[in-house]
Amino acid sequence: MDHSNCIFCEIIEGNIPCEKIFEDEHVIAFLDIHPVNPGHTLVLTKKHLATIHDLPNDIVSHLFTAVRNLSTPVKKAVDATGINIEMNNGPDAGQIVNHAHVHIIPRYHDDSYRHWPGKDTTPDALFEMGNAIRGLL
Ligand code: 5GP
Ligand code: ZN
Repeated sequence: MDHSNCIFCEIIEGNIPCEKIFEDEHVIAFLDIHPVNPGHTLVLTKKHLATIHDLPNDIVSHLFTAVRNLSTPVKKAVDATGINIEMNNGPDAGQIVNHAHVHIIPRYHDDSYRHWPGKDTTPDALFEMGNAIRGLL
């Protein structure tokens, strides 16, 4: 996969500085340069893969194990009362950097970060949708 002009690959290769939290063979974690709240951390695959759809299961396992293991120290460091784990996949889902990454976002009561709005649905519509997705498994 083409990783020219990928800012996260540049960080991984050490060409651009970052505030690194953790690194192993498969993943790296560093602080987001524009944090939603202090401590906002990004956890990345070292390999340039664009989205969740491109990740082999073993890399998913490494990535989300690292996310889980980093969540507690991030939360404690900033005395957060909650944590959001978010992954944006594709530009229409808010992905700006085309290199798979997971956000660990510390949260507090009544902070300004808003939950997504839910739409109304019906049991029939949920059943049809369930069938559509199950049919693709
Ligand atoms: P996305 O919208 O792609 O899920 O999020 C990309 C995140 O990367 C954003 O929250 C943005 O602030 C962060 N970011 C973009 N460029 C840099 C950078 O050069 N260094 C660091 N540490 N974070 C970055
Ligand atoms: Zn990359």
